[in-house]
Amino acid sequence: MKLEIDGHRLLAELETLSTFSDAEPPAVTRVVFTPTDLQARAWLISRCDEAGLAVRQDAVGNVFARWSGADPAAPAVGTGSHIDAIPNAGKYDGVVGVLSGLEAMRALQRCGFQPKHSIELLVFATEEPTRFGVGCLGSRLLSGSLTAEAARQLRDRSGESLDEVRQKAGFQGDLESVELPAGYYKAFVELHIEQGPLLERAETPLGIVMKIAAPASLRVSIEGAGGHAGGVLMPDRQDALCSAAELILAVESAARSTGSTDSVATVGICEVFPGAVNSIPSRVRLTVDVRDTDLRRRDGMIEALESALKTVSAKRHVSVLPELLNADAPADCALDVRAALSDSCRRHGLPFLEMVSRAYHDSLFISRIAPTGMLFIPCRNGYSHRPDEYASPEDIARGVLVLAETLATLAA
Ligand SMILES: [Zn+2]
Repeated sequence: MKLEIDGHRLLAELETLSTFSDAEPPAVTRVVFTPTDLQARAWLISRCDEAGLAVRQDAVGNVFARWSGADPAAPAVGTGSHIDAIPNAGKYDGVVGVLSGLEAMRALQRCGFQPKHSIELLVFATEEPTRFGVGCLGSRLLSGSLTAEAARQLRDRSGESLDEVRQKAGFQGDLESVELPAGYYKAFVELHIEQGPLLERAETPLGIVMKIAAPASLRVSIEGAGGHAGGVLMPDRQDALCSAAELILAVESAARSTGSTDSVATVGICEVFPGAVNSIPSRVRLTVDVRDTDLRRRDGMIEALESALKTVSAKRHVSVLPELLNADAPADCALDVRAALSDSCRRHGLPFLEMVSRAYHDSLFISRIAPTGMLFIPCRNGYSHRPDEYASPEDIARGVLVLAETLATLAA
């Protein structure tokens, strides 16, 4: 089997997809179920049609594009990622995995490969938490990790429910119908930019993921007492922002003190009320994002945060209310998928690193219902979720080659 990757067409498609955006180039903003997102989907579906793939979309907007195998009833081999993009993002996150999956399938078709198992491109809906506050909605529902009932409770910032928004966008049917039947996939592989600097630093073109880190996120509301910045004397204050500052540092120290570089914790949002220069902050809302490859260590960081909450609340006479938004378990990538990836790398003399995915991906949830693996390609300076995100054509082409061979091995 002599695979030829059409890198030119793939790059042109990357450029075209980046024009479906609500931001000034080079930034990309593509929030799920907006007119821009729907246009991007329509364009992508036309590319899948052109490749002779059978396309269907489910009730939450996951797109499946299938190349039927010789045994169409056998479990399929899946690949894919997402095309939604957070505000002011770049053009590679997720998109590279989707378009590489499509090009991998076309390359296999061109060289005359006949799969026994069907090969399916999956474009996950709502990977980014931008609109509904929870990431990976599509894969959570596909894998039964989120119930349809819980999904129906989700609302966007304007108060519209997921159900209303998706139906208005043309996605009908019950959310119950999204969950995949047992044994639907024989295996699943997601190609993604690393979103970290390790491959580039090691001058290594490919990464094979062993574990996907376990994220947890919390919202913390702090209620103190407001007042005039001149009038209220320091001993009388219950400043919510000063309390938040102590908590933010406690979050940082919880991650720094585990002794593992796999532990990370971030406060990414800090909303201050009323937010006036001469007014003592009476209320603050923080978000806390905690991740680790080890569930016990991850939960240990959350416990450290909870004990800091109590200390700060008692010391500063403020009320502190934590709310756990999600706490997912980490995933191990499947040995047979990793072996298929590493065999392909060796066949082409391509060095690879075995690594941890510190960002979480739809593959985390798909790994609960199918043997799953991930292939990373380098991205410049490790940048992601910003307009200067970049992966080189050579790195993308190498990724597609290994992805295509891996799909062929798994679908043979
Ligand atoms: Zn992504």
